[in-house]
Formats: sequence, C-alpha cells, structure tokens
Amino acid sequence: MSSKIEIKRIDKSKIDSVDFNNLPFGSVFSDHMFTCTFKDGKWQNPIIEPFAPISLSPAAKIFHYGQSIFEGMKAYKDAEGNTLLFRPLDNCKRLNKSAERLVIPQIPEDVFMDGLKELLKVDEAWIPTNEGSSLYIRPFMFASGNGFHASPANEYKLIIATAPSGAYFAGKVKVLIEEKYARAANGGVGFAKAGGNYAAQFYPTQLAIEKGYNQVIWTDDNTHEFIEEAGAMNIFIRINDTLITSPTSDRILDGITRKSIIQIAEDMNIDVEVRKISVSEVIAAAQAGNLKEMFGAGTAAVISPIAGFGYQGSDYDLPELETPFAGILKKAITDIQTNKAKDPYGWRVVVK
Ligand SMILES: *Cc1c(COP(=O)(O)O)cnc(C)c1O
Repeated sequence: MSSKIEIKRIDKSKIDSVDFNNLPFGSVFSDHMFTCTFKDGKWQNPIIEPFAPISLSPAAKIFHYGQSIFEGMKAYKDAEGNTLLFRPLDNCKRLNKSAERLVIPQIPEDVFMDGLKELLKVDEAWIPTNEGSSLYIRPFMFASGNGFHASPANEYKLIIATAPSGAYFAGKVKVLIEEKYARAANGGVGFAKAGGNYAAQFYPTQLAIEKGYNQVIWTDDNTHEFIEEAGAMNIFIRINDTLITSPTSDRILDGITRKSIIQIAEDMNIDVEVRKISVSEVIAAAQAGNLKEMFGAGTAAVISPIAGFGYQGSDYDLPELETPFAGILKKAITDIQTNKAKDPYGWRVVVK
C-alpha cells in the first residue's frame, strides 16, 4: 500500500476539558484515531479522523466469532519535547502473529508505523509530560465484514486510538493462585493478544476479587502446578537473588516488557532464570523465607509489585524490601523509555 494517509481534523479540540494532573488510565480519549480497512483483498483508505463511534452491521463477524486482536503501547515526551516510542516494531510483529492465529490479514509494517507516527503528530499535544504519565496507544484489528456463517470475514479494520493516561496501578496487589480455571490452553490462543482471552479471564478474576484478592495468578491449564502469568501481565518471581520467569509458550504472551526486563536485569548482573516454576517451589521458598519478590510486568503498569498471595486457603505475605528488584528494574526501563538514560539496545524510536 502506498496511498497517502487522508487527514480530517477535528473542528474543535477537546483537550481543554482534560485535567492532565488527574488522568485515569485509558478512559479519556485523544481527538483523533487512525483507521485502515482491508477490503477486496488489500489494505486501503488509511485515514486519520476525529475519534468517534463507528458504524458496523449487526452481522459483522467481530460480534459473532470474536475475530479481534489488539496491542498496547505507550508514547512519551522527553525533556527536549521529542515524542518517543518503545520497541514499536515488536508490537507490529506481535499484532501480525496474533492476526495469523485468528485468520486476520497481515498488516504491512509501513502501514502500521506510518499510521501510528502520523497520528502521534496530529495528537502530539495529548502526550502527557507529567512523571509516570504517558499516552497509552491501543491498536486493534477486527472482522468488520458481515455474515452469520462461521468463517473468517472478508473485511477487517485496523484502528489506532490513544488515551492520555496516569499510572496504571496504585500500590501493591494481593493475588490468588488459580487452581481451577485457565486463561489459555495448549494449542489455543493464549500467546495472541486476542480479545476473547480477556473475556475468559473476567469470571475467575471476579471470583478472586470476591474472595478479597486483586488479581489471579494463572497456572498451566493441565496440572495447575506451574505458574504462568499474573493477570494480563507476565510474572517474575525472586527467590533469594535469582529472578525467575516462565518461558513463553503457546499459552503465555511474549511480553515486550518481560523480554526488556530480562535483558536489563542480566546486564545488571542479576541472575535471571527463564524456566518453569511450580507453585510448590514458590510455597517452599515462602516458608523458608527465601521468597523475596513477585511482580507482574506489562506495558500498562510496567511493573506491578505483589504484596502477597493466596493458595489453597492459606495466605502468604511477601517481605517489604528496601530496594526491591521491582523498583530498580522499573526505574531502569522507564528511564530508557523516557530518555532519562542511555539506550544501549536501540529500543527507543523518535517520532519524526
Ligand atoms: C499484553 C500482555 C502482556 C504484556 O505484554 P507487554 O508487551 O509487555 O505489554 C502479558 N501478558 C498478557 C496476557 C498480555 O495480554
């Protein structure tokens, strides 16, 4: 696709109605959105236009067969006023991995990147500059084509919308290690950012919340013996001074935060092990006093420290450390993201 992006600007910006000092996460939307449509076998009509409701047929296959995938990324402003992205091509590649699994057509990288960058230029004023805040970016693709027949649609849309956002989580969370439900199964779509994965998480999460926890720790679907993810985040567990995270699989999302943290930690000479970790190993470590930290890792919260966990009716508390890995690693990654530190890996992308 080489057609130019059409730009239709909003008549009057909504930005004056937004309090940038009190931003929620992901629920105030910027003026514009980018849309590209897959029709007649090709991606076409890329357009940036005011963020507004879209019109779909009740027969659109997204509603019936759930062909829907998304990404989550952030844009930042540095002290010089540059607009920065973090490893954006990795998001595009993962979107296409998800697309392949759900039989959604591949989006060419230049269509994705050009649309994203142009959108960030048009809505540049919406990128927060406050510490901890960022512009959350939500690219998503779904079946807009019609039919009650259970088969892939012949029309799709890629939309990129953005939301200036404050920090995702406040404080430490209490989690429940899941013994019955699973978020993903072998051979399934757990590795894809498919909307349906999240729908399936809501019920067990709701049950955990009713029991007084904030989040579920997902275990493997077969035995529930191995720890896989923390809610919609990858999980890290620190036993003594070793940081352990589960290997990615077709049940585990290959998080960009996860792989960045592994790299940064290794370069800080933190001992990192990518391997399966069982619930019994974690319990034994907790009982021996060797379980130091657990935290989730993902774009939205970056790192979300865990205060304690419940398992089989018992609660286990994690110690309060003075300088936890969670804090050190969160600072290291956000400093790279926001250009407060050198970027030895070439992860930052300046939007020009
Ligand atoms: C998005 C997501 C993650 C984190 O991925 P990042 O690329 O770090 O944002 C982890 N687990 C699940 C299930 C996710 O949906």
